[in-house]
Amino acid sequence: MLPGVIEFVLAAIGAVVFGTFAEYFIHRAMHWGVLHPEGHARHHELNEARTFLLDFVDYGIGAALLGWFGFLVSWTSGAGWATGAAIYTVLASYSHQIQHANADLVFWMKRPVHRLHHNLDMRDKNFGILVDWWDRLFGTYRSVEYLRDARPRRARDFLAIPWR
Ligand SMILES: [Zn+2]
Ligand SMILES: [Zn+2]
Repeated sequence: MLPGVIEFVLAAIGAVVFGTFAEYFIHRAMHWGVLHPEGHARHHELNEARTFLLDFVDYGIGAALLGWFGFLVSWTSGAGWATGAAIYTVLASYSHQIQHANADLVFWMKRPVHRLHHNLDMRDKNFGILVDWWDRLFGTYRSVEYLRDARPRRARDFLAIPWR
């Protein structure tokens, strides 16, 4: 048996990774036309990301549906997995917003894949939002030249998204 704190942390990390995996396939399913295709087509037309709060509710519905799995293992895994699902929801909502608002700030990926997915109207490439791992693994990563604005970044730039 793992000590409780390690079990909790591993379950939380597992849920964040699983969240990025679910995000990849849910976004792909939208482009296959099987999940919420009209709403997503509209998101592409407008090329805007509404607000952090609305994304948080959208992604949070998915996270709530998938966020209880850990309880099949134990109370500790359940609490860790649910916490990870909540952390994932915050990170993914933020990543979506900042890529629409100011993609140059996306320092955790080589290229802001979601911004490129929109700007270059890639309906079959770059489905990732928080990370680009699954695109790379499943062959949908498209690397186009992306030049970042080299100006120094201020903390407040990272907060300049439509929050609600
Ligand atoms: Zn978007
Ligand atoms: Zn899309």
